[in-house]
Amino acid sequence: MTHPHPAGADLRDALAAANRILVREGVLDAFGHVSARTAPGAGTFLLSRNLAPGSVTPSDLLVHHLDGQIDDPRPPYLERFIHAEIYRRRPDVLAVVHSHSPSVIPFGVSDTPLRPVVHMAGFLTAERTPVYEISDHAGDATDLLITSPELGASLATTLAGGSVALMRGHGSVTAGASLMEVVYRAVYTEVNARIQLQALTLGTPRYLSAGEAKAADQSVGAQARRAWDVWRNQVTQDGAR
Ligand SMILES: [Zn+2]
Repeated sequence: MTHPHPAGADLRDALAAANRILVREGVLDAFGHVSARTAPGAGTFLLSRNLAPGSVTPSDLLVHHLDGQIDDPRPPYLERFIHAEIYRRRPDVLAVVHSHSPSVIPFGVSDTPLRPVVHMAGFLTAERTPVYEISDHAGDATDLLITSPELGASLATTLAGGSVALMRGHGSVTAGASLMEVVYRAVYTEVNARIQLQALTLGTPRYLSAGEAKAADQSVGAQARRAWDVWRNQVTQDGAR
């Protein structure tokens, strides 16, 4: 599905709103972040300075290069390499969310894979959402954070061409072809995880088949704008109070 990718000041406004939406929807809290490529095909992206997402305004957004460097004295996020290395490998990706959204975490630390159980989450891989295992790349005494281009590259390899990868004991990463799409996917990854956990307490869930997931992603996912418009109005009203 394709949604417009805003430019210039409109992109900054939309990305600041995306930060607040993801906090409001329980995907980000004091931690986690969302970024947007500055333009289709560009080798730069916008990501906030090191700040809690609920406080991010357009002027906090820094232009990052794909090596994670910035031309700004303000401190960046430690885990900016997550975004940089996904943009480097995925020209189709225009927006990335990294979160610690809580319902998703159990599927990264157990042998039960995250799979689509609702039609709103057809973007999830039908058989198994991949799980990134940091100890395979950096040993068993890391802080689990993606703090170097090398770790970012290995995470991007786990994500491969997919929409979502889990990070064991840490969180997840979500990629999208637009800011609207990535926000929608991050919210519904958390919703699907919550519903899947509930279903697992009742018995064995009936998951979406690969064909159902693909068809649902094309029809329901194409309407991400409807969700975005509602969420953006909500955070605008929150800001006016
Ligand atoms: Zn993190």
